[in-house]
Amino acid sequence: MGKASRDKRDIYYRKAKEEGWRARSAFKLLQIDEEFNIFEGVKRVVDLCAAPGSWSQVLSRRLYLPAKLSPDSRESDLPLIVAIDLQPMAPIEGVIQVQGDITNARTAEVVIRHFDGCKADLVVCDGAPDVTGLHDMDEFVQSQLILALKLFFPLVTFAKPKSSRNSSIEAFAVCENYSPPEGFNPKDLHRLLEKVGSPSGGEDLDCSSGWLEGPNKVYIPFLACGDLSGYDSDRSYPLPKVADGTYKSLDPVQPPIAPPYKRALELKKASSHGIQELEKLSLDS
Ligand code: SAM
Repeated sequence: MGKASRDKRDIYYRKAKEEGWRARSAFKLLQIDEEFNIFEGVKRVVDLCAAPGSWSQVLSRRLYLPAKLSPDSRESDLPLIVAIDLQPMAPIEGVIQVQGDITNARTAEVVIRHFDGCKADLVVCDGAPDVTGLHDMDEFVQSQLILALKLFFPLVTFAKPKSSRNSSIEAFAVCENYSPPEGFNPKDLHRLLEKVGSPSGGEDLDCSSGWLEGPNKVYIPFLACGDLSGYDSDRSYPLPKVADGTYKSLDPVQPPIAPPYKRALELKKASSHGIQELEKLSLDS
């Protein structure tokens, strides 16, 4: 799809560029905040799976910049924002970048060091378990994720922001009031999840809420969120026409600095250059 055509077809894609967001996903986080007020009182926040960085931009604009611009701001009071991704991303003011794998314990240690050993007030994550296409397997992974969430957070809601396309089954889990099981040691996480995931598991865990009586007993509320006056994600954008009657598309706010497809483009360029050289040689001879 061409740039202008996507601008026209997808209102949030175009609006993101107009407002300087690196990706349209920024609106999803903003709309989740409208509903759940997730930024209130936040001083330490982690953005998992952050590249190209639109959620980190939201964190910078909503948390870091207002604190920095406040007249009585002190360096030590500024919120700490740590963003992690496998890919590098272009800098964002007030955001510390860590390039690494979020599933690696060493990455967690780096984040904890940035927070001087303190816990984060908020963790946002725009990653999801990969879908294999093997439905039983995918369902198992997803249900394990839900069980794991319920184990650590008494309040879990699935939120569908208005900017998330209706045609997509994407939804975001909003987990509140972190309260790990008594005596929980993060190093035991894998063992704990294995237990919870098995049919007879969880018997020796604290099941005071009764949610472990069976997988079917876990009901997670599903909430559509975002201001009702917000744009529908399937709405097209009425682009203003310029003098010659054509539409003016906008350039990306920040192209990825090291996209995974970079090498493929280089190889393609090199091979087409090689073909041109060969053609030139055969014409010359
Ligand atoms: N929230 C981002 C934004 O607003 O710009 C978009 C995130 S994008 C949908 C998903 C990201 O997850 C990709 O940049 C990918 O590199 C990252 N990712 C996937 N698996 C990861 C892992 N194990 N560790 C770190 N990052 C990962």
